[in-house]
Amino acid sequence: MQDRFDALRRDIEDRRAELIALTQALIRFPTINPPGEAYTPCAEFIGKRLAKLGAKVEYIRAHDTPGDSDAFPRTNIVARFEGSAPGPVVHFNGHIDVVEAGDGWTVDPFGGEVRDGRVYGRGACDMKGGIAASIIAAESYMRVVPDFRGAIEISGTVDEESGGFGGVAHLASLGYFSKPRVDHVIIPEPLNKDRVCLGHRGVWWAEVETFGTQAHGSMPFLGDCAVRHMGSVLDKFETDMFPSLAQKRTTMPVVPEGARQSTLNINSIHGGESEAGADGKPDDYDGLPSPNVPDHCRMIIDRRFLIEEDLATVKREVSDILDGLKHDREGFEYAIKDIMEVMPTMTERDAPVVKAVSDGIEAVLGKPAEYVVSPGTYDQKHVARIGHLHDCIAYGPGILDLAHMADEYVIIDDMVESAQVMAHAIDALLQGPIS
Ligand SMILES: [Zn+2]
Repeated sequence: MQDRFDALRRDIEDRRAELIALTQALIRFPTINPPGEAYTPCAEFIGKRLAKLGAKVEYIRAHDTPGDSDAFPRTNIVARFEGSAPGPVVHFNGHIDVVEAGDGWTVDPFGGEVRDGRVYGRGACDMKGGIAASIIAAESYMRVVPDFRGAIEISGTVDEESGGFGGVAHLASLGYFSKPRVDHVIIPEPLNKDRVCLGHRGVWWAEVETFGTQAHGSMPFLGDCAVRHMGSVLDKFETDMFPSLAQKRTTMPVVPEGARQSTLNINSIHGGESEAGADGKPDDYDGLPSPNVPDHCRMIIDRRFLIEEDLATVKREVSDILDGLKHDREGFEYAIKDIMEVMPTMTERDAPVVKAVSDGIEAVLGKPAEYVVSPGTYDQKHVARIGHLHDCIAYGPGILDLAHMADEYVIIDDMVESAQVMAHAIDALLQGPIS
């Protein structure tokens, strides 16, 4: 067995140049989301490479999901390598979409430049470096252990950055992330090469609206200001909600440490008439804003909750504040609407995929794996909720803090080492060759 591990590690090391070239090639597809550019050519690039090696390749377009159109089709690719005998199935899932480049780059964001042992580009870290590492890991594994049992799957999916509805959620609804098709899922998101990401906190997004009565701005006493009512909500958040959320600590090993508690962000507030022109574009109207007492004000809240909390209580904390104000404050009327709910998920430390990847980290890096939980969600939510598959983690080479930044990069040594860890994990999960 030691010989096999050595052979795997050597094979991956020998393919360093190929791993770099693959990462560069993936970065050069500007798969920016929104709107969802270049999804099809990127998916086909991955599909063609894997088909050449004998995979059964499927392209699955998520028709009628958000953003899907003939101009911007939501094209996913799933490749499956069948072993020489039935057995467990390991699936590597990577999202091919990236966020917009933004400003501040000193290199071409879609050039895939190599410098100082790093590959640069939008998505290098999140997560084309991880996709490339998983492809090389699987390819090396099949070269070294050609008579493996079970199956290895690799998918490239879309729209993770916008919720994953046309990507993993769509495939999961078609059974691609459920037993018996798949047993173990590894998502090579950038969580650092020595950390196993067990899951993520929960999310509740809601819209809170307050109401008032419109009047002339010179006589506000004739109306009732919806923005002031919203101000009273903010006041309660400051005095009651934020201090109480800071007290709610979790045993989930969330990184960074600051997220090891409940949090609430106010994503936006809009009150009164818009200062924009009639078509909603701010710059084609340069007149003065409307002189009215606003009769409505809308706030979007983003509450991140812990595995120790339940969603009903999370919601009640907000509605209790609103009901309290309705009781205490004259004229206070509100409405609240759910926008999104994601339950927290955390795979157990003794789950097979967690054990396989941690053993790989220990063997390759010579130190114990660190277990972490992501502050935000990623596609694991769909694998858990729609696919009902629990044996899923995120593990990949990128450095988490670099995701979505200018001059994003992935360290080449990290990709090589994490590919070696992934190959180890495949071996452990498929229980080696047929003897
Ligand atoms: Zn990502």
